[in-house]
Amino acid sequence: MECPSCDTERTKVVDSRPTEGGTAVRRRRECPDCSTRFTTYERTEWDGTQVRKRDGEIEPFDHDKLLGGVLRAVEKRPVSEDEARAIADEVEDDVLSNGGEVVETRQIGEKVSERLREVDEVAYLRFVSVYKEFDDPDEFARELDRIKERQD
Ligand SMILES: [Zn+2]
Repeated sequence: MECPSCDTERTKVVDSRPTEGGTAVRRRRECPDCSTRFTTYERTEWDGTQVRKRDGEIEPFDHDKLLGGVLRAVEKRPVSEDEARAIADEVEDDVLSNGGEVVETRQIGEKVSERLREVDEVAYLRFVSVYKEFDDPDEFARELDRIKERQD
């Protein structure tokens, strides 16, 4: 979402809550460049953005699914639920504003993993393992343990 004051392209969501009986979301935003704060509203659109899955099937973009994936990745990690929600919100904004009519699940997965990598390496790996569908979960778990050991 563009800053209305200085036209910086990426602004930060500082608060996000349902409004209008749950049919809309009100977001407080802040521009990282000029510190302007502003509010946006997001409402459902019947023919909104569609997501094309790996098997080719298309379904409506689902915020809860996106958020669920992020929350699972950060479970028991030093990442707050607010941070996880902010990541999901930012990715959703990106997808809804730049993605066009149909976006690939891969594009969404890449956006989420980019942001997770910045906040927590383990959460990032967990997320990538799900969205890239690793063939051998055991091998992946061992890799995860190696990273944890390095961090201790
Ligand atoms: Zn600004």
